[in-house]
Amino acid sequence: MTAYVVPAVVPSVAVAGEAARFPVRRIYCVGFNYAEHNREMGRDPQKDPPIFFSKPADALLADGEELPYPSRTANLHYEAELVVAIGAAGSRIDPAAAHQHVYGYAVGNDYTRRDLQSAAKEKGRPWDTAKGFDGSAGIGRIHPAAVVGHLRRGALWLTVNGAERQRGDLADMIWDVPGIIAELSTFFALRPGDLIYTGTPAGVGPVTPGDVVVAGIDGLGTLTHRIGAARAGA
Ligand code: MN
Repeated sequence: MTAYVVPAVVPSVAVAGEAARFPVRRIYCVGFNYAEHNREMGRDPQKDPPIFFSKPADALLADGEELPYPSRTANLHYEAELVVAIGAAGSRIDPAAAHQHVYGYAVGNDYTRRDLQSAAKEKGRPWDTAKGFDGSAGIGRIHPAAVVGHLRRGALWLTVNGAERQRGDLADMIWDVPGIIAELSTFFALRPGDLIYTGTPAGVGPVTPGDVVVAGIDGLGTLTHRIGAARAGA
C-alpha cells in the first residue's frame, strides 16, 4: 500500500510478565456504574442505567508517564477504574460466556475535563472534548486472566499526593464485567484489542500541575501519573 502520510503506530499496553504488548483497537467506557458516584453527580441510578462512551485508542497514558494539564479546562478530574482487555471477538455475548472473551485486567484512570462534561450534559452535546483528549486514558500493565483469574470483587482506590480520594469495591458495580460485555456487545462487535473502562466509584475530584495521582486495584498493582504544566497548543 502506498500512503499519503506515515501511518500511525498501533497503540499498545504492556502486559505483566510478558515481553509482548497488547495492541489496542478501541477504547470503550462505562459511565455511572457505581451508585454512590451517580449520587455525587446528581443522578438517580434507579431511574437511569449506566451509559457507554468512547475514547480514541491513542489517548492511552502508561504508568509513570506525565499528563500535561490539558487545554480548554479549569477542572481536570481523575477517575480510578478497572479496565477489561478483550481477547476474543463476539457480538450479543451471553453474560454466562462473557469471561471467555476477556484477555486480562488493568488499573485505569479516566481523566476528564469535568467543566466541559458538565456543559455538554446541560446542552445535550457529545462528550468527546471532555473525555477524549490526549493522555486521557491512563492504563497500567495488563494482567492476564490466565494468571490473576476473573475479578469480581476487590478494593479500587486512588490517592492524590498521598491522600486517599477514592475507595470502592469492584463488587459494587451496577453492571458487573459480564453484564458490561453482554450489553456493549449488543451495540458493537467486540474484537481482540478492545479495552473497556468500567466506571469509577465515588470521590472524583480535581488535580492541578505538580500533583501525583496513584490509582490501585487489589491484585493489579498501581498506576501513577504526575500532572504536568499546561503546554502551548492543545
Ligand atoms: Mn469514567
